[in-house]
Amino acid sequence: MSSSRNKPSALARNHKQRLPMRPFLLNPLFAAAANLPGIGPKNAKLLDWLLARDGAEARVVDLLFHLPFTTIDRRNRPKIAEAPLDTIVTLEARVAEHRPPPPRSKAPYKVLVEDGTGDVLLVFFLANPQWIERSLPLGATRWISGKLELWDGHRQMVHPDRVLDAEGFAKMAPVEPVYPSTEGLFQRTLGKAVDAALARIPALPEWHDAQSLAIVAGPSFAEALRDVHHPKTPESIAPEAPSRKRLGLDELLASQLALALMRSKIKRAPGRASLGDGTLRQKIAAALPFALTVSQKTAMEEINTDLGTPTRMLRLLQGDVGSGKTLVALFAMAAVVEAGRQAALMAPTEILARQHHQTLTKFAEAADLRLALLTGRDKGAGRDKILAGLADDSIDVVIGTHALFQESVVFRDLGLAVVDEQHRFGVHQRLALGDKSEAADILVMTATPIPRTLVLTYFGDMDVSNLREKPAGRQPIETRALPLERLDELIARLTRALGQGARAFWVCPLVEESEALDVAAAQERFAQLQQIFGGKVGLVHGKMKSRDKDAAMDAFAKGSTQILVATTVIEVGVDVPQATIMVIEHAERFGLAQLHQLRGRVGRGGGKSSCLLLYKAPLSESAKARIAIMRETEDGFKIAEEDLRLRGEGEVLGTKQSGLPGFRLADLSAHGPLLTLARNEARTIVEENPRLEGARGEALRLLLNIFERGEAIRLLGAG
Ligand code: ADP
Ligand code: MG
Repeated sequence: MSSSRNKPSALARNHKQRLPMRPFLLNPLFAAAANLPGIGPKNAKLLDWLLARDGAEARVVDLLFHLPFTTIDRRNRPKIAEAPLDTIVTLEARVAEHRPPPPRSKAPYKVLVEDGTGDVLLVFFLANPQWIERSLPLGATRWISGKLELWDGHRQMVHPDRVLDAEGFAKMAPVEPVYPSTEGLFQRTLGKAVDAALARIPALPEWHDAQSLAIVAGPSFAEALRDVHHPKTPESIAPEAPSRKRLGLDELLASQLALALMRSKIKRAPGRASLGDGTLRQKIAAALPFALTVSQKTAMEEINTDLGTPTRMLRLLQGDVGSGKTLVALFAMAAVVEAGRQAALMAPTEILARQHHQTLTKFAEAADLRLALLTGRDKGAGRDKILAGLADDSIDVVIGTHALFQESVVFRDLGLAVVDEQHRFGVHQRLALGDKSEAADILVMTATPIPRTLVLTYFGDMDVSNLREKPAGRQPIETRALPLERLDELIARLTRALGQGARAFWVCPLVEESEALDVAAAQERFAQLQQIFGGKVGLVHGKMKSRDKDAAMDAFAKGSTQILVATTVIEVGVDVPQATIMVIEHAERFGLAQLHQLRGRVGRGGGKSSCLLLYKAPLSESAKARIAIMRETEDGFKIAEEDLRLRGEGEVLGTKQSGLPGFRLADLSAHGPLLTLARNEARTIVEENPRLEGARGEALRLLLNIFERGEAIRLLGAG
């Protein structure tokens, strides 16, 4: 959870207001889950905690998309004599004898049941005798479900999961879904909430074409959801089950259609050739203290070709951290400014925006480019001045955060929008910046090299430029792995290095699903290191105010602190060239891509750098493989490919670690082929029915809204 989750920024709200209204038909799906029958305030809170996104409240649709991860199969109904041990069975038996414990004894209450082939002792610890007498009256037939075990040569069942009479048994789910949950939220409560949510699904038309439907042989969207939440067999919830495939295809079509609509809108809108005469670029190049790499030159040529033609550019610039993307972006922006237009560069965080601004100012000086920085923090007169500058063209290039999306930000003539570290932004944000000018080219930069198939999944059909080589003169980073028990050695080494003026990042473990715990771990490590190194230690984490974050970063950049303890907030693009040591604690918990990103924070200056992967033994096979690859290579493209090989496409895309937004229903490790299908379907739709008209169009609009990609519909109106 990032801090921005709790409080949607004014900008985000601003943007939302411009979204088209969701069709009324879908309102029941987006109502608060808390209002479902049978959900009290306590459970409502737990549901929010479990399901809500972005600090909002859990909605009916969130419950529907919360799929069971396993099942309990109660279909096995053997005779007692044949019942297997240690697996779930459901027995039909007669209550033969009650054996209550002696008064004031802590012994369990036992009930003997039999079915003619044998008998079983039901064992209840700390039981309520009244409940037992009521549920298991002597002589009655009962259905009892649970695990049998052998105790002292006799079959017994401790705390059966179910004790049912005929009526209860008739209603028992033979295969019971089991959901990911959270402490205090019972499966039964979740199940009831899901049932109430299923009842809210409105009648929906079919949105797929007949061909796709035939391939998944699918039930309708609503039927598929019912199937998955009421599995008939354990296989019903597997990703290969027809219902799961249907739902996966729905989600993939929604995402591919949104991307295809965006692409078509950008490509359809007339662009303008905006490649200048090269004067500014020559000045910048002449002032550079180094030569451009071959990859940089190639990327620049590719971009220039796009800029020089009147179709709009939609290009992804991929390159490892430190491969020099920012400079490529600067040349592109300068080319546009030469042509008399403006450029904007948008970064995902304030720290990064400021850093880009600093770096670019240095390089742009020689060419007298007029730069400005605009973040959410700029208010009042300062902000007004920048806005005026953008409107009257006294600013050439603006660098900022999503503050750049605000409607009040108006360019005189935006020619190029550069979006850094793209995957942190959503499609609609990308669009919003492109919307600042009908004819703006778009260049997206990402520091996580992604193999081609994955590019298509997340970015749609974009042109791609790759920066594969590192600038000359970079020294290799020495990467070592060390078990946590040898922390003392590391401390001794750090003490020596700091004595010689070195600076070190210390990244604390990622605790899955809990930023609060991440922060606690970082704070604890910070306190320990402070005891050793005193005031030389700084701390930065995602829960800090941005001013405090900046202060901590500044202190480290200036060298007034020499160790910066951080949660993964530093992952994205922080540039402190003097830092030469990267310590990653619990390295075994990080994915390859993330380890690589983190390591890329060092080895940027002239100094010899090292990366220390502190791990907790014993390592799993896959953690071993990850660490081995990290020691073997620094090539991000190679690492991305290895990552793909080790984990598979679905895993790479499916986890938080990828940094990519995950899918909720689609599981790409199983649904890869559906992605191709969805892509083709989306392409056909955009060709044949680009405005989503008629009955099919209406159905597709519903689909986009259900998967919250409704922003794509806004594109249909204009352009
Ligand atoms: P990225 O954005 O890809 O992470 P940057 O553009 O921030 O990389 O570049 C990283 C560092 O390398 C910067 O300090 C930049 O000045 C420097 N740099 C960029 N291109 C070159 C080059 N061709 N030769 C040497 N240093 C370079
Ligand atoms: Mg960068």
